[in-house]
Amino acid sequence: MADAAVEVTDVFAGYGETDALSGVSLRVEPGELCAVLGPNGAGKSTLVKLLSGLLRPRLGRVAIAGKDVTTLDRRALARLVAVVPQHVEVALGFTVRDVVMMGRAPHQGAWMSAADADRDAVERAIEACDLGDLVERRVATLSGGEQKRVAIARALAQEGKVLVLDEAGAHLDIRHNIAVHEVVRRELAGRGLACVAVLHDLNAAAQYADRIALLKGGRIVAQGTVEEVMTYRRLKEVFEAELYVGVNELDGARYFLPVRPNPRGTA
Ligand code: ADP
Repeated sequence: MADAAVEVTDVFAGYGETDALSGVSLRVEPGELCAVLGPNGAGKSTLVKLLSGLLRPRLGRVAIAGKDVTTLDRRALARLVAVVPQHVEVALGFTVRDVVMMGRAPHQGAWMSAADADRDAVERAIEACDLGDLVERRVATLSGGEQKRVAIARALAQEGKVLVLDEAGAHLDIRHNIAVHEVVRRELAGRGLACVAVLHDLNAAAQYADRIALLKGGRIVAQGTVEEVMTYRRLKEVFEAELYVGVNELDGARYFLPVRPNPRGTA
């Protein structure tokens, strides 16, 4: 069998004595988008840290494109995995183009010279994230949502095999939220990129993901297609919240709405 883009095998990992993830296994193929859903504290960010090489598993194995993450140095890992963290830290004093170019660093030689391939990747990423009008602006002068798009463009320019998004849609307006997910889907189809996306937006997950991994208490409680995993009963159980799950009769797409508990109550 060909190497999966991401293969997490029976991983236990955490902080100090406590495991934040227990017995987690996850396989994502090239061209697939796997959405990771779960309530606060479920272990989603811990999974992101494992995939970014920031945290080592206590037990089990994390492999990207067949390579054990713990055997790769930072540069080698950065050629395989690009991460857009939840709290974006981009070099505020630099221009948008400079920051996106930083995504090319793992591919460049000691002198950081920008070759044609690097410039092409940067221009593609800038266009994909709709940053053409902002390229000369200093990142410090951009809004939070614009900075997020710069971070996403930097990650796309990195051209790894796996893109890890931690809440990519947060802080983006509706148009750019849709645009970012569309860009990711195009990259998946175009060059076999795989994506692991931590999402709070159930609707985005249902529309864009091929697979869903539902985490709770450090364990994967369900994994599979949207139809298999994103059911009323399971989501209510995992999020401990009431919600409405609607199914579009035309195409079977699922839509989710939070429902106010006891709306006519006096409390
Ligand atoms: P999520 O991203 O799903 O909200 P996290 O992966 O951040 O969840 O957290 C999973 C568990 O690990 C939580 O119980 C959290 O308190 C704990 N945790 C997260 N980061 C640390 C840390 N740096 N030190 C100790 N415990 C942590």
